[in-house]
Amino acid sequence: MNPQYDGRALIDGKRLTAQDGETFDCISPVDGRLLTAVARCKQRDVDAAVVSARAAFEDRRWSGLAPAQRKRILIKFADQLLANGDELALMETLDMGKPIKYARAVDVNSAANCIRWYGEAVDKIYDEIAPTASTALALIQREPMGVVGVIVPWNYPMIMAAWKIAPALAAGNSVVLKPSEKSPLTALRLAELALEAGIPPGVFNVVPGFGPEAGSPLALHMDVDCIAFTGSTRVGKQIHVMAGQSNLKRAWTELGGKSPNIVFADCPDLDKAVEAAVGSIFFNQGESCNAPSRLFVEASIREQFLEKAVALAPGFAPANPLDSDTVMGAIVDKTQMDTVLRYVESGKREGASLLYGGEQALVDTGGCYVQPTIFAGVTSDMTIAREEIFGPVLSVLSFSDVADVVRQANQSIYGLQAAVWTRDINQAHGRRPCPACGHRACQPIRRRRHHRAVWRL
Ligand code: NAD
Repeated sequence: MNPQYDGRALIDGKRLTAQDGETFDCISPVDGRLLTAVARCKQRDVDAAVVSARAAFEDRRWSGLAPAQRKRILIKFADQLLANGDELALMETLDMGKPIKYARAVDVNSAANCIRWYGEAVDKIYDEIAPTASTALALIQREPMGVVGVIVPWNYPMIMAAWKIAPALAAGNSVVLKPSEKSPLTALRLAELALEAGIPPGVFNVVPGFGPEAGSPLALHMDVDCIAFTGSTRVGKQIHVMAGQSNLKRAWTELGGKSPNIVFADCPDLDKAVEAAVGSIFFNQGESCNAPSRLFVEASIREQFLEKAVALAPGFAPANPLDSDTVMGAIVDKTQMDTVLRYVESGKREGASLLYGGEQALVDTGGCYVQPTIFAGVTSDMTIAREEIFGPVLSVLSFSDVADVVRQANQSIYGLQAAVWTRDINQAHGRRPCPACGHRACQPIRRRRHHRAVWRL
Protein backbone atom coordinates (compact mmCIF):
# COMPACT_ATOMS: atom_id res chain seq x y z
CA MET A 1 0.00 0.00 0.00
CA ASN A 2 1.18 3.51 -0.78
CA PRO A 3 1.85 5.84 2.16
CA GLN A 4 -0.22 9.03 1.85
CA TYR A 5 2.13 11.86 0.99
CA ASP A 6 1.18 15.53 0.86
CA GLY A 7 2.74 17.19 -2.18
CA ARG A 8 1.48 20.70 -1.54
CA ALA A 9 3.88 23.61 -1.12
CA LEU A 10 4.56 25.00 2.34
CA ILE A 11 4.30 28.78 2.42
CA ASP A 12 3.85 30.97 5.48
CA GLY A 13 3.33 27.91 7.63
CA LYS A 14 0.47 26.56 5.48
CA ARG A 15 0.25 23.68 3.02
CA LEU A 16 -0.93 25.21 -0.27
CA THR A 17 -1.64 24.07 -3.80
CA ALA A 18 0.08 25.99 -6.59
CA GLN A 19 -1.83 29.19 -7.39
CA ASP A 20 -2.76 27.95 -10.86
CA GLY A 21 -3.67 24.54 -9.40
CA GLU A 22 -1.10 22.66 -11.51
CA THR A 23 0.66 19.56 -10.20
CA PHE A 24 3.25 17.09 -11.42
CA ASP A 25 3.40 13.37 -10.72
CA CYS A 26 5.89 12.12 -8.19
CA ILE A 27 6.80 8.65 -9.49
CA SER A 28 8.87 6.20 -7.46
CA PRO A 29 11.92 4.79 -9.28
CA VAL A 30 11.65 1.73 -7.02
CA ASP A 31 8.74 0.26 -9.00
CA GLY A 32 7.18 3.04 -11.05
CA ARG A 33 4.30 3.64 -8.63
CA LEU A 34 2.70 7.06 -8.37
CA LEU A 35 3.53 8.45 -4.94
CA THR A 36 1.53 11.65 -5.05
CA ALA A 37 0.76 14.77 -7.07
CA VAL A 38 3.09 17.62 -6.19
CA ALA A 39 2.33 21.34 -6.45
CA ARG A 40 3.97 22.71 -9.60
CA CYS A 41 5.05 26.08 -8.24
CA LYS A 42 5.84 28.94 -10.58
CA GLN A 43 6.57 32.66 -10.41
CA ARG A 44 3.44 33.60 -8.40
CA ASP A 45 4.06 30.89 -5.80
CA VAL A 46 7.70 31.88 -5.47
CA ASP A 47 6.64 35.51 -5.06
CA ALA A 48 4.24 34.51 -2.28
CA ALA A 49 6.95 32.49 -0.54
CA VAL A 50 9.42 35.39 -0.76
CA VAL A 51 6.81 37.83 0.59
CA SER A 52 6.19 35.48 3.50
CA ALA A 53 9.93 35.03 4.15
CA ARG A 54 10.52 38.80 3.95
CA ALA A 55 7.69 39.56 6.37
CA ALA A 56 9.03 37.00 8.82
CA PHE A 57 12.48 38.53 8.56
CA GLU A 58 11.33 42.13 8.94
CA ASP A 59 9.22 41.55 12.04
CA ARG A 60 12.15 39.64 13.59
CA ARG A 61 10.00 36.72 14.71
CA TRP A 62 13.06 34.48 14.18
CA SER A 63 16.12 36.70 13.85
CA GLY A 64 15.02 38.65 16.94
CA LEU A 65 14.96 35.61 19.21
CA ALA A 66 17.74 35.30 21.75
CA PRO A 67 20.53 33.11 20.36
CA ALA A 68 19.98 30.53 23.10
CA GLN A 69 16.36 30.23 22.04
CA ARG A 70 17.18 29.83 18.32
CA LYS A 71 19.70 27.23 19.30
CA ARG A 72 17.15 25.31 21.39
CA ILE A 73 14.65 25.30 18.53
CA LEU A 74 17.20 24.17 15.93
CA ILE A 75 18.35 21.36 18.16
CA LYS A 76 14.74 20.34 18.66
CA PHE A 77 14.36 20.42 14.86
CA ALA A 78 17.33 18.02 14.57
CA ASP A 79 15.75 15.79 17.21
CA GLN A 80 12.50 15.80 15.22
CA LEU A 81 14.37 14.40 12.22
CA LEU A 82 15.71 11.55 14.30
CA ALA A 83 12.35 10.90 15.97
CA ASN A 84 10.73 10.69 12.53
CA GLY A 85 13.73 8.95 10.97
CA ASP A 86 11.93 5.83 9.78
CA GLU A 87 9.23 7.84 8.04
CA LEU A 88 11.79 10.17 6.41
CA ALA A 89 13.98 7.28 5.29
CA LEU A 90 11.05 5.48 3.69
CA MET A 91 9.97 8.67 1.94
CA GLU A 92 13.50 9.28 0.64
CA THR A 93 13.88 5.73 -0.60
CA LEU A 94 10.52 5.68 -2.37
CA ASP A 95 11.12 9.12 -3.87
CA MET A 96 14.70 8.73 -5.15
CA GLY A 97 15.52 5.03 -4.99
CA LYS A 98 18.43 4.79 -2.57
CA PRO A 99 18.67 1.72 -0.29
CA ILE A 100 16.63 2.22 2.84
CA LYS A 101 19.47 1.25 5.13
CA TYR A 102 21.55 4.16 3.83
CA ALA A 103 18.58 6.54 3.77
CA ARG A 104 18.14 5.85 7.49
CA ALA A 105 21.77 5.55 8.62
CA VAL A 106 23.34 8.16 6.36
CA ASP A 107 20.77 10.64 5.06
CA VAL A 108 18.55 11.09 8.10
CA ASN A 109 21.46 11.07 10.55
CA SER A 110 23.68 13.39 8.52
CA ALA A 111 20.88 15.88 7.96
CA ALA A 112 20.06 15.86 11.70
CA ASN A 113 23.75 16.19 12.63
CA CYS A 114 24.16 19.14 10.29
CA ILE A 115 21.16 20.97 11.77
CA ARG A 116 22.35 20.19 15.31
CA TRP A 117 25.89 21.42 14.49
CA TYR A 118 24.64 24.79 13.28
CA GLY A 119 22.16 24.97 16.16
CA GLU A 120 25.05 24.52 18.58
CA ALA A 121 27.03 27.21 16.76
CA VAL A 122 24.34 29.86 17.28
CA ASP A 123 25.57 30.90 20.72
CA LYS A 124 29.24 30.10 20.17
CA ILE A 125 30.23 32.36 17.31
CA TYR A 126 31.24 35.77 18.56
CA ASP A 127 31.47 39.10 16.83
CA GLU A 128 34.82 40.90 16.79
CA ILE A 129 36.27 44.26 17.71
CA ALA A 130 38.91 45.33 15.21
CA PRO A 131 42.23 46.71 16.54
CA THR A 132 42.08 50.49 16.13
CA ALA A 133 43.53 53.61 17.73
CA SER A 134 41.85 54.54 21.03
CA THR A 135 39.97 57.30 19.26
CA ALA A 136 38.06 54.86 17.05
CA LEU A 137 35.83 51.82 17.49
CA ALA A 138 35.43 49.30 14.67
CA LEU A 139 33.10 46.34 15.13
CA ILE A 140 32.76 43.27 12.95
CA GLN A 141 29.21 42.06 13.47
CA ARG A 142 27.66 38.98 11.95
CA GLU A 143 24.14 39.80 10.80
CA PRO A 144 21.60 37.70 8.92
CA MET A 145 21.25 38.71 5.28
CA GLY A 146 17.47 38.50 5.05
CA VAL A 147 15.84 36.10 2.60
CA VAL A 148 17.98 33.18 1.43
CA GLY A 149 16.88 31.25 -1.66
CA VAL A 150 17.97 27.62 -1.74
CA ILE A 151 17.95 25.29 -4.76
CA VAL A 152 19.04 21.67 -4.30
CA PRO A 153 19.50 18.49 -6.35
CA TRP A 154 18.00 15.03 -5.91
CA ASN A 155 20.88 12.76 -4.95
CA TYR A 156 20.87 13.45 -1.19
CA PRO A 157 17.69 15.52 -0.93
CA MET A 158 17.62 15.88 2.86
CA ILE A 159 21.35 16.32 3.34
CA MET A 160 21.64 18.89 0.56
CA ALA A 161 18.72 20.83 2.01
CA ALA A 162 20.19 20.65 5.53
CA TRP A 163 23.60 21.93 4.38
CA LYS A 164 21.92 25.10 3.16
CA ILE A 165 18.99 25.73 5.46
CA ALA A 166 20.83 24.96 8.72
CA PRO A 167 23.46 27.73 8.46
CA ALA A 168 20.92 30.15 6.97
CA LEU A 169 18.44 29.58 9.80
CA ALA A 170 21.13 29.55 12.48
CA ALA A 171 22.19 33.02 11.38
CA GLY A 172 18.58 34.25 11.64
CA ASN A 173 17.65 34.36 7.95
CA SER A 174 14.36 33.33 6.40
CA VAL A 175 14.53 30.65 3.72
CA VAL A 176 12.72 29.71 0.51
CA LEU A 177 13.76 26.22 -0.57
CA LYS A 178 13.17 24.75 -4.00
CA PRO A 179 13.81 21.00 -3.92
CA SER A 180 14.48 19.00 -7.07
CA GLU A 181 11.39 18.04 -9.04
CA LYS A 182 12.78 14.49 -8.94
CA SER A 183 12.73 14.24 -5.12
CA PRO A 184 10.53 16.91 -3.52
CA LEU A 185 8.92 14.99 -0.65
CA THR A 186 11.37 15.04 2.25
CA ALA A 187 11.97 18.81 1.87
CA LEU A 188 8.26 19.40 2.43
CA ARG A 189 8.27 17.13 5.45
CA LEU A 190 11.36 18.87 6.85
CA ALA A 191 9.55 22.19 6.73
CA GLU A 192 6.63 20.66 8.65
CA LEU A 193 9.00 19.29 11.28
CA ALA A 194 10.65 22.72 11.55
CA LEU A 195 7.25 24.23 12.34
CA GLU A 196 6.58 21.55 14.94
CA ALA A 197 9.97 22.27 16.52
CA GLY A 198 9.04 25.94 16.91
CA ILE A 199 10.52 27.69 13.87
CA PRO A 200 7.87 30.37 13.27
CA PRO A 201 5.62 30.25 10.17
CA GLY A 202 7.07 32.10 7.19
CA VAL A 203 10.68 31.50 8.19
CA PHE A 204 11.14 28.26 6.24
CA ASN A 205 9.10 27.94 3.02
CA VAL A 206 9.23 25.20 0.39
CA VAL A 207 8.20 25.65 -3.25
CA PRO A 208 8.41 22.39 -5.23
CA GLY A 209 8.58 22.69 -8.99
CA PHE A 210 10.80 22.60 -12.05
CA GLY A 211 14.05 24.49 -12.47
CA PRO A 212 13.06 27.05 -15.10
CA GLU A 213 9.58 27.56 -13.57
CA ALA A 214 10.36 27.76 -9.84
CA GLY A 215 14.18 27.82 -9.58
CA SER A 216 14.80 30.69 -11.99
CA PRO A 217 12.19 33.03 -10.42
CA LEU A 218 13.94 32.46 -7.09
CA ALA A 219 17.44 33.08 -8.47
CA LEU A 220 16.20 36.17 -10.35
CA HIS A 221 14.09 37.54 -7.50
CA MET A 222 14.82 41.15 -6.57
CA ASP A 223 13.88 40.55 -2.92
CA VAL A 224 16.06 37.49 -2.36
CA ASP A 225 19.37 38.49 -0.78
CA CYS A 226 21.36 35.37 -1.47
CA ILE A 227 20.98 32.22 -3.54
CA ALA A 228 22.59 28.99 -2.36
CA PHE A 229 22.67 26.32 -5.06
CA THR A 230 23.84 22.72 -5.31
CA GLY A 231 23.52 20.97 -8.65
CA SER A 232 25.09 20.62 -12.05
CA THR A 233 27.84 22.86 -13.32
CA ARG A 234 25.68 23.83 -16.29
CA VAL A 235 22.86 25.21 -14.11
CA GLY A 236 25.31 26.59 -11.53
CA LYS A 237 26.76 28.88 -14.20
CA GLN A 238 23.25 30.10 -15.01
CA ILE A 239 22.63 30.82 -11.32
CA HIS A 240 25.58 33.24 -11.24
CA VAL A 241 24.24 34.91 -14.38
CA MET A 242 20.76 35.23 -12.85
CA ALA A 243 22.23 36.71 -9.67
CA GLY A 244 24.04 39.26 -11.81
CA GLN A 245 21.02 39.99 -13.98
CA SER A 246 18.85 40.77 -10.98
CA ASN A 247 19.98 42.39 -7.74
CA LEU A 248 23.57 41.09 -7.71
CA LYS A 249 22.58 38.82 -4.87
CA ARG A 250 25.34 36.70 -3.43
CA ALA A 251 25.44 33.30 -5.11
CA TRP A 252 27.03 30.20 -3.64
CA THR A 253 27.32 27.17 -5.88
CA GLU A 254 28.41 23.60 -5.17
CA LEU A 255 28.64 21.81 -8.49
CA GLY A 256 29.58 18.62 -10.32
CA GLY A 257 32.61 16.36 -10.23
CA LYS A 258 34.61 13.72 -12.07
CA SER A 259 36.92 12.81 -9.24
CA PRO A 260 40.19 10.95 -9.86
CA ASN A 261 41.13 8.03 -7.63
CA ILE A 262 44.83 7.26 -8.14
CA VAL A 263 46.39 3.93 -7.15
CA PHE A 264 50.18 3.60 -7.30
CA ALA A 265 51.90 0.22 -7.54
CA ASP A 266 53.38 0.67 -4.05
CA CYS A 267 49.92 0.90 -2.44
CA PRO A 268 50.38 -1.01 0.82
CA ASP A 269 46.93 -2.66 0.84
CA LEU A 270 45.63 -3.35 -2.63
CA ASP A 271 42.53 -5.18 -1.40
CA LYS A 272 41.49 -2.15 0.61
CA ALA A 273 42.12 0.15 -2.37
CA VAL A 274 39.96 -2.07 -4.61
CA GLU A 275 37.17 -2.22 -2.03
CA ALA A 276 37.19 1.56 -1.67
CA ALA A 277 37.38 2.18 -5.42
CA VAL A 278 34.43 -0.10 -6.18
CA GLY A 279 32.42 0.64 -3.03
CA SER A 280 32.58 4.41 -3.49
CA ILE A 281 31.60 4.56 -7.14
CA PHE A 282 28.63 2.25 -6.57
CA PHE A 283 27.49 3.89 -3.32
CA ASN A 284 24.24 5.83 -3.84
CA GLN A 285 24.08 4.23 -7.35
CA GLY A 286 27.04 6.42 -8.37
CA GLU A 287 24.84 9.48 -7.89
CA SER A 288 27.33 11.40 -5.76
CA CYS A 289 29.07 14.62 -6.76
CA ASN A 290 32.34 13.33 -5.33
CA ALA A 291 32.03 9.78 -6.72
CA PRO A 292 35.53 8.63 -7.73
CA SER A 293 34.40 7.92 -11.27
CA ARG A 294 37.88 8.03 -12.85
CA LEU A 295 40.12 5.30 -11.45
CA PHE A 296 43.80 5.61 -12.42
CA VAL A 297 45.80 2.44 -11.81
CA GLU A 298 49.58 2.27 -12.33
CA ALA A 299 50.24 0.09 -15.37
CA SER A 300 52.28 -2.56 -13.53
CA ILE A 301 49.37 -3.53 -11.22
CA ARG A 302 46.55 -2.88 -13.67
CA GLU A 303 45.60 -6.49 -14.52
CA GLN A 304 45.72 -7.63 -10.90
CA PHE A 305 43.65 -4.64 -9.78
CA LEU A 306 41.01 -5.08 -12.47
CA GLU A 307 40.60 -8.75 -11.67
CA LYS A 308 39.87 -7.93 -8.03
CA ALA A 309 37.51 -5.07 -8.96
CA VAL A 310 35.47 -7.21 -11.33
CA ALA A 311 35.24 -9.94 -8.67
CA LEU A 312 33.63 -7.44 -6.26
CA ALA A 313 31.14 -5.97 -8.75
CA PRO A 314 28.41 -8.67 -8.42
CA GLY A 315 28.10 -7.76 -4.73
CA PHE A 316 26.63 -4.45 -5.89
CA ALA A 317 23.90 -5.89 -8.09
CA PRO A 318 20.86 -3.64 -7.73
CA ALA A 319 17.99 -4.98 -5.65
CA ASN A 320 14.81 -3.75 -4.01
CA PRO A 321 15.81 -0.57 -2.11
CA LEU A 322 13.20 -1.33 0.54
CA ASP A 323 15.00 -4.53 1.47
CA SER A 324 17.31 -3.85 4.41
CA ASP A 325 20.20 -5.85 2.85
CA THR A 326 20.27 -3.94 -0.41
CA VAL A 327 23.44 -1.96 -1.12
CA MET A 328 22.57 -0.58 -4.55
CA GLY A 329 19.08 0.67 -5.32
CA ALA A 330 17.33 2.42 -8.19
CA ILE A 331 18.48 5.31 -10.36
CA VAL A 332 16.39 8.39 -9.55
CA ASP A 333 14.18 8.26 -12.66
CA LYS A 334 13.89 6.99 -16.21
CA THR A 335 15.49 10.10 -17.71
CA GLN A 336 18.61 9.66 -15.59
CA MET A 337 18.68 5.91 -16.22
CA ASP A 338 18.56 6.54 -19.97
CA THR A 339 21.38 9.08 -19.61
CA VAL A 340 23.53 6.52 -17.81
CA LEU A 341 22.82 3.86 -20.45
CA ARG A 342 23.67 6.36 -23.20
CA TYR A 343 27.06 6.94 -21.57
CA VAL A 344 27.60 3.17 -21.47
CA GLU A 345 26.93 3.06 -25.22
CA SER A 346 29.35 5.93 -25.81
CA GLY A 347 32.04 4.09 -23.85
CA LYS A 348 31.61 1.02 -26.06
CA ARG A 349 31.49 3.10 -29.22
CA GLU A 350 34.64 5.04 -28.39
CA GLY A 351 36.65 1.87 -27.78
CA ALA A 352 36.67 1.29 -24.00
CA SER A 353 36.34 -2.35 -22.98
CA LEU A 354 33.30 -3.21 -20.93
CA LEU A 355 34.47 -5.56 -18.19
CA TYR A 356 31.26 -5.80 -16.21
CA GLY A 357 27.61 -4.73 -16.31
CA GLY A 358 26.39 -2.05 -18.68
CA GLU A 359 22.76 -3.17 -18.84
CA GLN A 360 19.46 -2.11 -17.37
CA ALA A 361 18.47 -4.49 -14.55
CA LEU A 362 15.28 -5.66 -12.78
CA VAL A 363 13.19 -4.52 -15.75
CA ASP A 364 10.12 -6.46 -14.55
CA THR A 365 9.85 -4.33 -11.40
CA GLY A 366 8.86 -1.25 -13.41
CA GLY A 367 11.67 0.60 -11.63
CA CYS A 368 14.90 2.16 -12.88
CA TYR A 369 17.93 -0.05 -12.26
CA VAL A 370 21.36 -0.25 -13.89
CA GLN A 371 23.99 -2.91 -13.28
CA PRO A 372 27.25 -1.87 -11.65
CA THR A 373 29.46 -1.17 -14.65
CA ILE A 374 33.23 -1.23 -15.11
CA PHE A 375 35.07 -0.02 -18.20
CA ALA A 376 38.80 -0.60 -18.69
CA GLY A 377 41.10 0.76 -21.39
CA VAL A 378 39.56 4.21 -20.95
CA THR A 379 41.58 7.18 -22.19
CA SER A 380 41.24 10.79 -21.04
CA ASP A 381 39.73 11.95 -24.31
CA MET A 382 36.76 9.55 -24.12
CA THR A 383 33.36 10.94 -23.18
CA ILE A 384 33.07 8.59 -20.17
CA ALA A 385 36.34 10.01 -18.81
CA ARG A 386 35.37 13.64 -19.37
CA GLU A 387 31.69 13.98 -18.51
CA GLU A 388 29.90 13.44 -15.23
CA ILE A 389 27.76 10.33 -15.70
CA PHE A 390 26.10 10.36 -12.28
CA GLY A 391 25.47 6.64 -12.30
CA PRO A 392 27.19 3.37 -11.33
CA VAL A 393 29.87 3.49 -14.02
CA LEU A 394 33.58 3.18 -13.23
CA SER A 395 36.07 4.28 -15.89
CA VAL A 396 39.50 2.71 -15.39
CA LEU A 397 42.54 4.42 -16.90
CA SER A 398 46.19 3.56 -16.42
CA PHE A 399 49.39 5.57 -16.04
CA SER A 400 53.14 5.14 -16.10
CA ASP A 401 54.45 7.60 -13.48
CA VAL A 402 53.54 10.59 -11.28
CA ALA A 403 53.91 13.16 -14.03
CA ASP A 404 51.71 11.12 -16.35
CA VAL A 405 48.92 10.64 -13.81
CA VAL A 406 48.95 14.26 -12.64
CA ARG A 407 48.62 15.39 -16.26
CA GLN A 408 45.78 12.96 -16.96
CA ALA A 409 43.92 13.60 -13.70
CA ASN A 410 43.96 17.33 -14.43
CA GLN A 411 42.54 16.87 -17.92
CA SER A 412 39.08 17.69 -16.60
CA ILE A 413 36.90 20.73 -16.14
CA TYR A 414 36.07 19.45 -12.65
CA GLY A 415 38.00 19.72 -9.42
CA LEU A 416 35.86 18.46 -6.58
CA GLN A 417 37.81 15.69 -4.88
CA ALA A 418 40.80 13.38 -5.42
CA ALA A 419 42.31 10.36 -3.69
CA VAL A 420 45.81 8.88 -3.83
CA TRP A 421 46.86 5.39 -2.69
CA THR A 422 50.61 5.00 -2.08
CA ARG A 423 52.95 4.16 0.78
CA ASP A 424 55.18 7.12 -0.17
CA ILE A 425 54.04 10.32 1.56
CA ASN A 426 56.09 12.46 -0.82
CA GLN A 427 54.51 10.86 -3.83
CA ALA A 428 51.07 11.37 -2.23
CA HIS A 429 51.78 15.08 -2.02
CA GLY A 430 53.04 15.21 -5.60
CA ARG A 431 56.64 16.04 -4.63
CA ARG A 432 59.06 15.34 -7.42
CA PRO A 433 62.70 14.29 -6.95
CA CYS A 434 65.12 17.12 -6.25
CA PRO A 435 67.04 17.91 -9.44
CA ALA A 436 70.26 18.23 -7.37
CA CYS A 437 70.27 15.12 -5.20
CA GLY A 438 67.34 13.04 -6.40
CA HIS A 439 65.76 13.08 -2.94
CA ARG A 440 62.01 13.69 -3.07
CA ALA A 441 61.63 15.30 0.33
CA CYS A 442 63.72 18.38 -0.36
CA GLN A 443 62.00 19.46 -3.57
CA PRO A 444 59.40 21.95 -2.33
CA ILE A 445 61.92 23.81 -0.22
CA ARG A 446 64.81 25.74 -1.80
CA ARG A 447 67.69 23.44 -2.70
CA ARG A 448 70.29 24.79 -0.30
CA ARG A 449 68.00 24.01 2.63
CA HIS A 450 67.22 20.51 1.53
CA HIS A 451 68.72 18.64 4.49
CA ARG A 452 66.62 20.70 6.84
CA ALA A 453 63.68 19.95 4.63
CA VAL A 454 64.25 16.24 5.02
CA TRP A 455 64.18 16.76 8.75
CA ARG A 456 60.99 18.72 8.58
CA LEU A 457 59.24 15.97 6.71
P1 NAD B 1 20.56 20.18 -11.82
O1 NAD B 1 21.56 21.27 -11.95
O2 NAD B 1 19.89 19.68 -13.03
O3 NAD B 1 19.40 20.62 -10.82
C1 NAD B 1 19.69 21.09 -9.52
C2 NAD B 1 18.55 21.96 -9.06
O4 NAD B 1 18.51 23.10 -9.91
C3 NAD B 1 17.19 21.30 -9.16
O5 NAD B 1 16.39 21.70 -8.08
C4 NAD B 1 16.64 21.86 -10.46
O6 NAD B 1 15.22 21.90 -10.51
C5 NAD B 1 17.20 23.26 -10.44
N1 NAD B 1 17.29 23.89 -11.74
C6 NAD B 1 17.43 23.29 -12.94
N2 NAD B 1 17.42 24.21 -13.94
C7 NAD B 1 17.29 25.41 -13.33
C8 NAD B 1 17.21 26.75 -13.81
N3 NAD B 1 17.27 27.02 -15.11
N4 NAD B 1 17.10 27.75 -12.90
C9 NAD B 1 17.05 27.48 -11.58
N5 NAD B 1 17.09 26.24 -11.07
C10 NAD B 1 17.23 25.21 -11.94
O7 NAD B 1 21.31 19.00 -11.04
P2 NAD B 1 20.72 17.60 -10.58
O8 NAD B 1 20.63 16.73 -11.77
O9 NAD B 1 19.51 17.83 -9.75
O10 NAD B 1 21.85 17.10 -9.58
C11 NAD B 1 22.99 16.48 -9.99
C12 NAD B 1 24.16 17.44 -9.99
O11 NAD B 1 24.36 17.98 -8.68
C13 NAD B 1 25.46 16.76 -10.33
O12 NAD B 1 26.18 17.55 -11.23
C14 NAD B 1 26.17 16.67 -8.99
O13 NAD B 1 27.58 16.56 -9.09
C15 NAD B 1 25.74 17.93 -8.33
N6 NAD B 1 25.92 17.87 -6.88
C16 NAD B 1 26.95 18.58 -6.33
C17 NAD B 1 27.18 18.52 -4.97
C18 NAD B 1 28.30 19.29 -4.31
O14 NAD B 1 28.30 19.41 -3.09
N7 NAD B 1 29.25 19.80 -5.07
C19 NAD B 1 26.36 17.72 -4.17
C20 NAD B 1 25.31 17.00 -4.78
C21 NAD B 1 25.11 17.09 -6.14
